[in-house]
Amino acid sequence: MCVVGAGAAGLTVAHELERLGHRAVVLESAGDIAGKAASAEVDGHVYDLGAHICTMRYVEVAALLDELGLESEPITPIHVHDLHGGRIVPSDPAFFQRGSMERYLSVRREEFPDLGRPGLAHSAAVLARPAGEWLREHGLTSMAGTLGPGYSSCGYGFLTGDLPALYFLKYAEMAGVSEGGRWVRGHPVLFTVKGGLGLLWRRVAERLTDVRTGVRVDSIERGPEGVTVRVRPGETRREGGSGEEQDTAAGGAPGAAEGASGPARDAGPEEIVADDLVLTVALDRVLPLLDATEDERDLASRVRTIDYRTVLCRASDLPPEGFYILPSTAEEAAGGRCVAYHSRYAGQDVYTCYCYGGGLGPAALVEVLRGDLAQVGGVLREVLRVEPWAYMPHFGGEDLAAGIYDRVEALQGRNRTYQVGSLPAFELLESNIAYARDIVHRFFIPS
Ligand SMILES: Cc1cc2nc3c(=O)[nH]c(=O)nc-3n(C[C@H](O)[C@H](O)[C@H](O)COP(=O)(O)OP(=O)(O)OC[C@H]3O[C@@H](n4cnc5c(N)ncnc54)[C@H](O)[C@@H]3O)c2cc1C
Repeated sequence: MCVVGAGAAGLTVAHELERLGHRAVVLESAGDIAGKAASAEVDGHVYDLGAHICTMRYVEVAALLDELGLESEPITPIHVHDLHGGRIVPSDPAFFQRGSMERYLSVRREEFPDLGRPGLAHSAAVLARPAGEWLREHGLTSMAGTLGPGYSSCGYGFLTGDLPALYFLKYAEMAGVSEGGRWVRGHPVLFTVKGGLGLLWRRVAERLTDVRTGVRVDSIERGPEGVTVRVRPGETRREGGSGEEQDTAAGGAPGAAEGASGPARDAGPEEIVADDLVLTVALDRVLPLLDATEDERDLASRVRTIDYRTVLCRASDLPPEGFYILPSTAEEAAGGRCVAYHSRYAGQDVYTCYCYGGGLGPAALVEVLRGDLAQVGGVLREVLRVEPWAYMPHFGGEDLAAGIYDRVEALQGRNRTYQVGSLPAFELLESNIAYARDIVHRFFIPS
């Protein structure tokens, strides 16, 4: 099996496949694994650049932590910080009062009972309307007040726009609203991985036979006999297992017997021949590499993403340890405004800040951030890293209503190709793991 992308979805697929006795070669274009679930170390402390918050709905993450012997810890408290008033304000509890949650759960039971299952296809058509409209029609605007600021600060866009209700309600589902009773005083029970999410994926990768980073995929050809992936090794290559086995998995690739981290010995092109292909990157991003069918081209042309960024920085005079949501409008966010900032460790001046990119260059974005932090009394001292994400690959409402997710599902296995990742699964760690495992179990259980 050839897996393109070593983020949560790709590593989960490979882990699951190898557990079932298959062999996987994972190809990652970046210099390191973990993608949107990577971490960075500063001053001896680990900061998550992407995924950080896990809810009580995260049973797959919890199972992985158990399997790998890793620890979890509670996340820092979450606050809402009013950028205009410069004050911490209470979060809006309306959804948890006056029977709103019960009303929502009853609509959910009637109209989209499968929302909690892996993937989106099962609920997409019925939730194709714009989120704000859907909430108004169902008398559930309180849900927007209570969960909207968190949703928008997580980079999923705004409830005032045309984004389908599907995505907001999947987010709410994974936050745990359908498990009503387990919310504590209006808050879900939240945890994260001690030592960072990156550690979790490093541990998974260590168990795999063949994970390569810094690889450039030049082309992918699929035929009745198998899949041929032409790659150029980059600066690094990390592989587990024994060298001999790797030679086979890599199609006799020169240098594959190295069996350790480090530069590839032969940086020439090589061919990987596999039975099947697993794409974890949304179709629009791999289209140039793929011998794509007309259907795949059409699907790719309909994928949209959101420009969302993480800025890792040093700052002073900000409130202590906590996750601070800065509620904002779509117009403000479009100007690159900071929508959340996080201080993970008491006594440290390192913050992870989250912004909609608004198409700004890194320097302009940093200036907007400087102004935003100043508005809540802080001083931006040093920018350590700006990480742009092609965030939340998704489809528009018309496509959802026309059954686009059914088309994606119908393509699974066709042309020896499977798609996992945030497009079919939704941009959350648990959704990605659950969907990736589901695909493996649906298609690859040995007979
Ligand atoms: C800022 C931010 C905050 C988040 N917070 C949370 C959170 O608190 N809780 C939560 O549950 N989720 C959170 N998420 C979402 C979660 O991190 C993602 O949904 C999940 O990690 C996505 O995994 P993936 O494997 O689908 O995609 P990715 O992690 O994007 O993996 C895809 C991989 O493919 C690689 N790639 C791309 N093109 C190629 C190519 N041509 N060849 C080879 N490799 C390629 C990429 O480099 C990448 O490593 C957050 C994400 C971000 C960005």
